[in-house]
Amino acid sequence: MPDKAEPLFLGVDLGGTKILTAVVNAQGKILSRDHSVTPAAEGPKAVIPAMLDSMASALNQAGKNVPEISAVGIGAAGLSNPRTGVLFTSPNLPGWRDVPLKGIIEKKLGKKTFLINDANAAALGELCFGAARNACNFIYLGLGTGIGAGIVVDGKICTGAAGTAGEVGHMVIHDDGPRCNCGNRGCWETLASGGALARDARDKIKEGARTSILDYAAGDTEKIDAEVIQKAAQDGDSLAGELIARIAYYLGVGLANLINIFNPEMIVIGGGLSNMGDMLLGPACEEAGRRAFKQAYRVVRFARAELGRNSGVLGAAALARDSIAGTQD
Ligand SMILES: [Zn+2]
Repeated sequence: MPDKAEPLFLGVDLGGTKILTAVVNAQGKILSRDHSVTPAAEGPKAVIPAMLDSMASALNQAGKNVPEISAVGIGAAGLSNPRTGVLFTSPNLPGWRDVPLKGIIEKKLGKKTFLINDANAAALGELCFGAARNACNFIYLGLGTGIGAGIVVDGKICTGAAGTAGEVGHMVIHDDGPRCNCGNRGCWETLASGGALARDARDKIKEGARTSILDYAAGDTEKIDAEVIQKAAQDGDSLAGELIARIAYYLGVGLANLINIFNPEMIVIGGGLSNMGDMLLGPACEEAGRRAFKQAYRVVRFARAELGRNSGVLGAAALARDSIAGTQD
C-alpha cells in the first residue's frame, strides 16, 4: 500500500475587506495562500462565490485538488454559532443574516466545514502555532479598527450558549460614552481601538487644535489613522501623544476587567494597532496593573501575537484539523 498523503486543510479568513485563504498541513505549515478582496457591499451572494474562488486559487497554487483536502475551517468576521455553522450577522459584512455558511460550503465542496468567529480563529492560531503555544488560559486580543478577542479557558475556546462569547470590544466601559457600531454607548472599542484614536484626532482637528497630525495625513482627515498619529507622536506632536495616552488608559481599564474576570496566564495582543508597540502597550499594561487584583496581575504575561496576518487562516485550519480528529482513522 502506498503511504497515505499527509492531511491538508483549507483555512479561510473572511473579513470585511479581504478574504485570505491558505492550504495548511497539520503542523501549521502554509503550502499556499490566496489574498482576495471581499465584495462585501454585494452581500453573501457575491461573497460566498468569492470565497470559493479564493479556495480554488489557493489549492491551484499548492498543486492540490479538493479531494486531497481533509476539511475546511472558516474564521468569519461577525457573530456566528460554531455548532450550527450559521453566521448570524456582521457589522463588516452587510446583508448577512442567519446565513448557514458551513452547510453551503460543505454542499459545494463535499468536505466537512467548520465555522468560527475571526477573533476566535486568530486565538486558535496563536494557541496551536504561535505565541500562546501550550497556554491553557489565555486571551487573544485583536486591536484594530475595533477590538476582537478569543478567550481560551482550560485549553478550549469559550464560545458561550449561542456561540457569540468573547465580544470584549463591546463591554461597556463608559455608560454615556461614544455611540458604538453595535448601537450601544461607551463600548470598549469606542474608547480604546484604532478607530477611536482616529476619531478623537479628527474631532480635535475640527475643534481647531494645533497639531502636525494632518500634515502626516497629506492634509486629508480621512487618511488619519493610528500609523499617522504614531508618526506625529514620535516627532514630538503633543496632541498625538495625548491621544495615544488616552487610548492606552482605556485599553488598560479594559485589560484590568479581563484580568479580574478570567485570571489568564497570558494576554496575546495582535491587530494593526498593536504595531504601535510599547508607546501604547506599556502604559496600558501599567494602568491594568493599577486596577487589577494583584494576585491575578502578577501571573499574567503580555505578549505580541506571532503569526501576524496568518493567525486567522492558521487558526481556521487548526479548527478543521481538531474538529475531524477522532472521526478519522
Ligand atoms: Zn458596541
